[in-house]
Amino acid sequence: MFGVWNATDAAPITALGLHALQHRGQEATGIVSFDGDHFHSYKGLGLVGDNFGDARVMAGLPGTHAIGHNRYATTGETVLRNVQPLYADFEFGGLAVGHNGNLTNARRLRRELVRRGCLFQSTTDSEVFVHLIAISSYSTVLDRLIDALKQVVGAYSLVALTNTALIGARDSLGVRPLILGRLAGADGNPGYVLTSETCALEIVGAEFVRDIEAGEIVEISAKGVRSIRPFGRAHPRFCVFEHIYFARPDSTMDGLSVYAARKRIGVELAREAGVAADVVVPVPDSGVPAAMGYGIESGLPFELGIIRNHYVGRTFIEPTDQIRHLGVKLKHSANRAVLAGRRVVLVDDSIVRGTTSRKIVEMVRAAGAKEVHMRISSPPIRHSCFYGIDTPEESKLLASRYDIAEMAALIGADSLAFISIDGLYRALGKGARDPRRPAFCDACFTGDYPIPLTDFTANTEQQLSLLAEDS
Ligand code: AMP
Repeated sequence: MFGVWNATDAAPITALGLHALQHRGQEATGIVSFDGDHFHSYKGLGLVGDNFGDARVMAGLPGTHAIGHNRYATTGETVLRNVQPLYADFEFGGLAVGHNGNLTNARRLRRELVRRGCLFQSTTDSEVFVHLIAISSYSTVLDRLIDALKQVVGAYSLVALTNTALIGARDSLGVRPLILGRLAGADGNPGYVLTSETCALEIVGAEFVRDIEAGEIVEISAKGVRSIRPFGRAHPRFCVFEHIYFARPDSTMDGLSVYAARKRIGVELAREAGVAADVVVPVPDSGVPAAMGYGIESGLPFELGIIRNHYVGRTFIEPTDQIRHLGVKLKHSANRAVLAGRRVVLVDDSIVRGTTSRKIVEMVRAAGAKEVHMRISSPPIRHSCFYGIDTPEESKLLASRYDIAEMAALIGADSLAFISIDGLYRALGKGARDPRRPAFCDACFTGDYPIPLTDFTANTEQQLSLLAEDS
């Protein structure tokens, strides 16, 4: 998500910001701008550049305020009516909302709202925000938003645009990120930016101000930035998978450089799971910083033994297993000159279904590697995420079905090791994980879900298929 308040060319700035955030979602994109009188909206399926590279589209988005969103759905169909920002007209004016995360009581809320006569336009869980705001008995938009946020359960960061303000909010545990930046204003007063990651600040010439805090709401208006904390303070649980995989390495999250953190994870991994070998090879791009760290700590040379073709997207996002298989081959090729006759340590950030690892190990062996040792810079992913990262149902997670020796055999590696959960926490500067007060949301590794899964009571298969329908 990206939002800008009081800047000349707000929509082009938002398009640039969304472009920098493209890795967070590639299925669809949208921008809503406000010119002081009217709201303007454009949404399209596909990438930011494919939609907002068109001068006629940009000409239709005038104004000094705008918000935008890149969509990253689970397996639910991607149709235009689900693309954000969502927009609605109210008696108090217009409201556009973009949401990153997942609500865990959206189905329950939706049923109640439908019973009360609300007509849902989309199937995204995010639309409940719009209806809760619509039926709230409070008068100001901000009070209505707070009223709505008090009723939703889940992990979310939000950006909203009204006739008078740009609003940002983070759930009370701060699971998903949101950052405040500043840039030159259109009218001599400062301009402001809200973004999911700091990497989008650089590209628009904005400076970093701070992370929005867990449970904080900021209202940015002609009066400046106002911070509100209607929910009290909770111990934050930022998503640890943002550090491992999701965020762009040039972003800073919660004061930590994502790149530096990934390198430290690699160092820790080499300490915990070193192996006699000749060369360290990353699975590009996600395994690169961790492999560098592994190389430094182990003293082994770091070499690009796998070359990535940059003209294909992330394999994981393709919908079917068949396409995913094909995608891995399209994306990676082996660099025989580095691999032939060598004992190779392959480093990747995670194993989800195991498709990537299996293909890569096979490819590295076919290129003549003598031994292949797989090292993973996250603990085994054994549990589904209900908070906004697209992990499949538990039965499809390799680590929930097999132990490490079985997984090694399945992916065809001579050895397989994952960083421990304590090693991960240490690499992120938190000491060993304190089970009574963990510093992160790490439910995908530990099964310790910090936000109630209200909608999801039965088995996880059913839970995930519900989520897929919603998103
Ligand atoms: P898999 O092939 O299913 O084991 O997926 C593992 C690969 O997908 C790793 O190389 C990761 O870099 C990448 N990955 C992990 N989590 C995600 C995610 N939520 N979305 C997209 N890609 C992911």
